Amino acid sequence: MKSHAKVVVIGGGVVGCSVLFHLARHGWTDVVLLERDELTSGSTWHAAGGMHTINGDPNVAKLQKYTISLYKEIEELSGQATGVHLTGGVLLAATEARLDWLRGVVAKGRYLGIDLEEISPNEAAELMPLLDPKQFVGAVRNKEDGHLDPSGVTHAYAKAARKLGAEVERFTKVEDIVRRPDGSWRVITNKGEVVAEHVVNAGGLWAREVGRMVGLELPVLAMEHMYLITEDMPEVAAWNRKTGTEIIHAVDFDGELYLRQERGGMLMGTYEKANKPWSEFQTPWNFGHELLEPDIDRIAPSLEVGFRHFPAFQNTGIKQIINGPFTFAPDGNPLVGPVRGLPGFWVACGVMAGFSQGGGVGLALSNWMIEGDPGADIWAMDVARYGDWATMAYTNAKVRENYSRRFSIRFPNEELPAGRPLKTTPVYDALSAKGAQWGVSYGLEVPLWYAPDGVRDEFSWRRSSDFDHVAKEVAAVRGGVGLAEISNFAKYAVTGEGAAGWLDRMLACKLPKRGRMTLAPMLKDDGRLIGDFTLANIDDGEWFIAGSGIAEQYHMRWFEAHLPKNGSVRIEALGQKLTGLAIAGPKARDVLAKVTRADVSNAAFPFMAVARMDIGMAPCLVGRVSYTGDLGYEIWVAPEYQRAAFGALTAAGEEFGIGLFGSRALNALRLEKNYGSWAREYRPIYGPLEAGLDRFVAYGKEADFIGKAAALAERKQGGKVRLRAFIVDAADADVIGDEPIWFDGAVRGWVTSGGYAHHAKRSVAMGYVPREIADEADGFEIEILGKRHGARIQSAPLFDANFERMRA
Ligand SMILES: Cc1cc2nc3c(=O)[nH]c(=O)nc-3n(C[C@H](O)[C@H](O)[C@H](O)COP(=O)(O)OP(=O)(O)OC[C@H]3O[C@@H](n4cnc5c(N)ncnc54)[C@H](O)[C@@H]3O)c2cc1C
Repeated sequence: MKSHAKVVVIGGGVVGCSVLFHLARHGWTDVVLLERDELTSGSTWHAAGGMHTINGDPNVAKLQKYTISLYKEIEELSGQATGVHLTGGVLLAATEARLDWLRGVVAKGRYLGIDLEEISPNEAAELMPLLDPKQFVGAVRNKEDGHLDPSGVTHAYAKAARKLGAEVERFTKVEDIVRRPDGSWRVITNKGEVVAEHVVNAGGLWAREVGRMVGLELPVLAMEHMYLITEDMPEVAAWNRKTGTEIIHAVDFDGELYLRQERGGMLMGTYEKANKPWSEFQTPWNFGHELLEPDIDRIAPSLEVGFRHFPAFQNTGIKQIINGPFTFAPDGNPLVGPVRGLPGFWVACGVMAGFSQGGGVGLALSNWMIEGDPGADIWAMDVARYGDWATMAYTNAKVRENYSRRFSIRFPNEELPAGRPLKTTPVYDALSAKGAQWGVSYGLEVPLWYAPDGVRDEFSWRRSSDFDHVAKEVAAVRGGVGLAEISNFAKYAVTGEGAAGWLDRMLACKLPKRGRMTLAPMLKDDGRLIGDFTLANIDDGEWFIAGSGIAEQYHMRWFEAHLPKNGSVRIEALGQKLTGLAIAGPKARDVLAKVTRADVSNAAFPFMAVARMDIGMAPCLVGRVSYTGDLGYEIWVAPEYQRAAFGALTAAGEEFGIGLFGSRALNALRLEKNYGSWAREYRPIYGPLEAGLDRFVAYGKEADFIGKAAALAERKQGGKVRLRAFIVDAADADVIGDEPIWFDGAVRGWVTSGGYAHHAKRSVAMGYVPREIADEADGFEIEILGKRHGARIQSAPLFDANFERMRA
């Protein structure tokens, strides 16, 4: 074994081998994979080997498509058979709600280049002869489904990597990982030590244990998973004889089942409700190539549905039941990327669909390590989407929920209950008493809307029970004044003598003067967005930043990686050390004036001013800015004072009819101002010109901010796409995000978010289209639930286009 390497990859499952291959293909050949046993000694060897392109997140779906397209290449390069059978498949709907969901999947496929087609149950039965068409209301055909040999694929990655110069050391167990003073890592094994610049944790079933070696508690948990293999079936033999083809894959969402042919019989797997975690706290090191005890009672309810939906199963025997563990993150997507605070330590774990996702994970991670950027939008897989709040017990609750809902529908207005409430703010009980319906963001309970007694969300793809109540919240803001809790923003304090200079380099905006705020895009080296913030200069040398709450860890990783080593700048993520309230609407100033002695007149405290002031008895930081696009204030307050500030504002607001509003009303309000949001409109694949944030970029400022040269080039060349807001002729359902945008009969763009703008009384969508058509007046359509609706670009915001309200 070599004593030094650029990269040590820990784990020889399908994911580690893919990472190794991609590093070597990308030109890093001084790389070594360490595997404690034979390759495939974790969950990989007993996988069912199914692969498919669809995923709830379009960006993960793209990487799944890439993974499947890769198998031919690694087979040719390695000479190792992967056993790929691209049979195609059918996705089955037994309910109308499921069919609506599938139509959304087909629609996304249009701009992702995934060939999906809605078919009738009878057409599905012609393709997959074992299903009973009477049990289904519709189906979708996917040409890119198939299955493969898990071990063959893993060895093909490893052999291809070796051919490119990478090394693989089997029977080499990593026992500890120690940081050296120069920042490199000592990877200590049972066979000696390797010093490496980078370490990748691809430990699969042992990813937690490998993480613990560097003090990291990763939010992953293994679950037992069962699939059965039947005896040979005459129906299968007859089909094979008649068509000369295998029986294609089927996913029966309402039965929570997947099926495919396995030799002369069938394989049927299920995500059962009564699921069971495996090795909840610690994975035993002596676990290897053994299987777990099957428990047919646990999967019996799913099998019952399966035998009804696929009657031929009733006449066959079960040859074998496989029960094996594999790992999940709380939301079921992989954990990939560099770990905040541990430069050179990378993770590629929690991959629950290694044969659909392993290639994409390897590609993204190798790009990230070599180029400094994953090269794709992989937010849905980024390890930074979790913070310390994702504790072991939280992970346990969420993974179990996610497993039991693997094939369940999640409606756009559906909030999932497991692992909640976790983080709450001091006004939680007061808001609950007012009917707050809670959602969750980065572990924090967030009020979505306020329901009268007896009214709750009715889960639907269409406008639902909250519609009229959200409309009332919006009316309270636009007609008078509304109060919202906004603690879910991320808040950062930046201090130190180097703060101004550092911010000038990190952020693309012009720095605001003392007592002022500005919108502040942050760019990567490639000139694309990595953040959008509000930056406040409280007192030269003391700066405050507010940004997307879900991206706190993501942004801290970036900020910390760019801090000067001399300690001249300090940045702290304040989390819930600072909570937030907002008031907005034409009467907002009247309310504020009643609770503070500070002069908040327009002259003394204009739009984008910021100051410390007491609200009632509570010391607060107040900024005159509002995501509602109205006259409004954001109020930042330490949690011990939040109730006092809330009490003072509600009492003062009484005479103005102050009403509470939640994040759904806020969404309706910001849409009529065309304000985008991070992780929706603003993502790391768009440049500021494309995203319409160029007006906040100080292209001419003296500081050589990160991404400046690339941003200037974008401005010169014009970028490829443009963010646009559309008015949609929708009837009873609005966009939720990720719908295709049609132009002149072809899919040309995609929706990033939208909804109903209650004040303007319009259905609104925001999304990206190619710049050549971005100023066309006519010809657009947006597809919602399988139907195309006319759409027109909004040339000016629907509300306060001349900023009269906001700046008054
Ligand atoms: C019953 C079942 C059916 C499945 N069906 C499918 C399917 O149809 N399609 C699909 O895509 N996925 C399926 N999966 C999931 C799939 O198996 C996983 O997504 C995949 O195996 C994850 O691979 P991995 O490389 O991340 O982890 P693992 O396979 O667990 O590999 C981790 C490797 O790291 C090694 N290792 C760990 N710690 C150390 C250390 N300290 N030193 C050295 N080596 C170490 C281990 O020995 C192991 O070989 C199924 C899983 C099960 C259990």
